[in-house]
Amino acid sequence: MNLPSQLITDAVEEFAKLPGIGRKTALRLVLHLLNQDKEAVATFGEKIIKMRNEIRFCQTCHNLSDGDQCSICANPARDHQTICIIENIRDVIAIENTNQFNGVYHVLGGVISPIEGIGPEDLHIDSLLKRASGGDVKEVIMGISPTIEGDTTIYYLSRKLDEFPVKITTIARGIAFGGELEYTDELTLARSIATRLPYDAHVANKE
Ligand SMILES: [Zn+2]
Repeated sequence: MNLPSQLITDAVEEFAKLPGIGRKTALRLVLHLLNQDKEAVATFGEKIIKMRNEIRFCQTCHNLSDGDQCSICANPARDHQTICIIENIRDVIAIENTNQFNGVYHVLGGVISPIEGIGPEDLHIDSLLKRASGGDVKEVIMGISPTIEGDTTIYYLSRKLDEFPVKITTIARGIAFGGELEYTDELTLARSIATRLPYDAHVANKE
């Protein structure tokens, strides 16, 4: 792409690094910014830098947070006795968008995958067990994608949670096996969480 300015070329190249943004779209965004007044563009840049520098992870659930506790964990109106375990932060956003869940979350940070070298110790499992051992948690929902790795993770977690008096449920119904949670449409996801099922590790393992 031949552009008359190195400054514009540099900016276009930065935008083009973003997912889903090709060079044409990048140029359109850069030209749009050029049409804004300098203060508006400064605000745009500052908000991105501030977000990147100041964002943290919730000390309880590992969700993105502005402080020690995320807005969900800090909300007394949420049901803190029901924890939905999900793989990543995008899944929190997907479930929150259904408006069907009033509990709290626990972000695992992935699933157990021997092929990719991800073991239980690489995930936020210790902090989950600590939460479950506190005595306040009544139900743990396995909001994990129904893939082979997801099933392995659910099975592992259910065995670990066995020693605590918590009900374990799974949202697998309605989501195709092999399906990724974040790509599931909102209606299916909403129905899946509303009709969650008790999880039986012995049946799931089919030994
Ligand atoms: Zn939190």
